[in-house]
Amino acid sequence: MQKIPFLVRALVGAVLTFSAQPLFAADTPVGYKDTPIIPGQPWHVHDPDRPRPRVVTPAPTFSQNAAAPADATVLFDGKDLSKWKSDKGGEAQWKVANGYMEVVAKKGNIFTKEEFGDFQLHFEFATPEKVTGNSQGRGNSGVFLHGIYEVQVLDSYENPTYADGQAGAMYGQYPPLVNPIKKPGEWQTYDIIFEAPQFDQDGKVIKKAAVTAILNGVVVQHRKEYMGPSKHKEVSSYDGVKSSRGPIGLQDHGNPMRFRNMWIRPLGEYDKP
Ligand code: MG
Repeated sequence: MQKIPFLVRALVGAVLTFSAQPLFAADTPVGYKDTPIIPGQPWHVHDPDRPRPRVVTPAPTFSQNAAAPADATVLFDGKDLSKWKSDKGGEAQWKVANGYMEVVAKKGNIFTKEEFGDFQLHFEFATPEKVTGNSQGRGNSGVFLHGIYEVQVLDSYENPTYADGQAGAMYGQYPPLVNPIKKPGEWQTYDIIFEAPQFDQDGKVIKKAAVTAILNGVVVQHRKEYMGPSKHKEVSSYDGVKSSRGPIGLQDHGNPMRFRNMWIRPLGEYDKP
């Protein structure tokens, strides 16, 4: 009789230990207070006390499967990564299957071979259906405009993390206006309008990069200016930045994020048909 409770206790203990391991292993901070204050704002970079954006449940579809207009360049048509290269050198090494590309951990960020100025960008993404990790360790990727200005791609569905790191954030600078993220595994849409920075002859920025971003049909950034390239735990500036053109990048943050139907078109200028 003495042995049964012991065995039960041992079994329960073993189960608890086993199930607890992933929780501890995946524990990622939900913010930082040891980072600098963002100039002009009362918040630290990645401040856990910065208000989380309000959740807005999006409509089931918005621009999902939107076909590319005639003057667009198709960056990914579901078949191959011929328009892309790896930041480790050579061809992009991510997986392509069933009409989507998928991040393969440690294969590196990928960037388009072509560069762009002002543009309209459409793409679709899905965060992993099987949720692992927490905060920034859960369903993390990102789209790098001109290769350096990140709009965050993250599984922000009921995932407490710092506001300036949520999906739709201008990473480390501004949270999204609201949080319209869908559930893990569902296809989601991004429609992004980017205005390139402009520099004078001495390389001084005279017009900052600006972005308008629509996530699942909901505006999350409205012509907001970047303080400079996106940084982790640092304040940004345009020091050392000179280019008004750049590639589109996608981030390998170690999670098997999926992307599909990606196209881009130049904005053009008024009165210059
Ligand atoms: Mg990211």
